[in-house]
Amino acid sequence: MNLSDLYQRAPVPVQNAFATGYGLKELPRRHGGQFRREVFDLNVRQWWPEEELQVDQDSRLRSMVTWCAARVPYYRDIFGELGLDPREIRTAADLSQLPILDKEIVRADPDRFLPDEPRPKLIAQTTGGTTGTPVRYWATLAAVRANYATYEARCRSWAGVHLGQRMASFHGQPIIPESQEGGPYWRRNLAFNQVYFSVYHLNSLTLADYVEQLENFQPQVIAGYTSAVHRIARGLLDAGDIGRVRPTAILVSSETLTPAVREDIQTAFGCRVTNAYSLGELVAFISECDHGELHISTEYGIVELADNPAGPGSEIIATGLINKGMPLLRYRTGDLAIPADPVPSACGRGLPRVSEIIGRVDDVVRTPEGATVGPAPMSLAFQRVPNLRRAQVRQDSLEEITVLLEVDTAFSSGDEEFLVGELRKRLGPSIRLLVEKVPTVPRTSGGKERLVVSSLTPQEGSQ
Ligand SMILES: [Zn+2]
Repeated sequence: MNLSDLYQRAPVPVQNAFATGYGLKELPRRHGGQFRREVFDLNVRQWWPEEELQVDQDSRLRSMVTWCAARVPYYRDIFGELGLDPREIRTAADLSQLPILDKEIVRADPDRFLPDEPRPKLIAQTTGGTTGTPVRYWATLAAVRANYATYEARCRSWAGVHLGQRMASFHGQPIIPESQEGGPYWRRNLAFNQVYFSVYHLNSLTLADYVEQLENFQPQVIAGYTSAVHRIARGLLDAGDIGRVRPTAILVSSETLTPAVREDIQTAFGCRVTNAYSLGELVAFISECDHGELHISTEYGIVELADNPAGPGSEIIATGLINKGMPLLRYRTGDLAIPADPVPSACGRGLPRVSEIIGRVDDVVRTPEGATVGPAPMSLAFQRVPNLRRAQVRQDSLEEITVLLEVDTAFSSGDEEFLVGELRKRLGPSIRLLVEKVPTVPRTSGGKERLVVSSLTPQEGSQ
């Protein structure tokens, strides 16, 4: 029996002790060594002019590329096949000489992305809960620390959050056994001063328990998946319970934050929401500053914005600069962003920006007429429907979609007609719309919620 099985079978107090034990082991790993130095340096560099950050980034890129070509089998082959000298990649602009790397290539043979022996000690990372099978991914200890240092300096500190503050977390760790019936749906990690809530057990039946626990704990910070934090916020708003939980900061990530969702969360908790974007593969870090701008951390990774033929926004292609354990160059993330206007930032930081992160490339519905309807219009279709909690669109054929709805008891046939009308406006006259009410919209294996789950390929859409 391994540690995870033992944990799953243990009684709740023992699981709490496990969580704290995990925290005690994890703290030095995250915050030891160069962590404080890196936080300090990141704080200094955020004010550098953009040109200096660019020079700094290019030098990090050269170091990464030459390392990859010398030590990593996949890249050794790529440079060989292209007849390309790695020293020719001198700046971010030169990266276009390398092919874009699809997740499938990494998933098929992850070992080819690991450096030759002697290999640095590698730590397994959690990745890719958004679609299908996760990619197996490893990082060096230095990369893990650089990641946490960036989160500290470029996200938590921008939101006014400090180490050690009382924190409620809603991320994808399966801390509550799936078979558990009844609460509590959270575990305490005293080392982190944290209550970790299960996102998998959060639904309309358990919501009141979550709110009560949050009220008792009164976290200073709430951090987690956007959908989970939004569920709590909606619960507070629907019950007229604004002010029951009073954090000073809310950090959301991993899922799209629409203006309507942001407003719900801010109203329910009476504090600012700070958005951030990163991946388990440690290739890009984008976070919201105190002026509401989304800044790219240039030391962490290079963000290229590639055309997205299917709709609005550009796809983020990312080149990681912090992890020599399993380096990914020009990695296709499947995430969509809108480029920022080329004007100086309002906060005065030199870090470049994107204007918005709007969803995933495959969050699209394809219609019999040949249209591809992207994440932004789809989420707008649902935003103004009364008494609707959450929705998910599932598509397995061009002719038909199933719309799963989580609704309030007050949801009427008029509300449903309104929703169908909103969908028709965007999806055209001929697609069949099946509406099905469910207690909870399904989550991915990583605990995230998707607006659109489609098994169609782009080829099927263009037929
Ligand atoms: Zn800013």
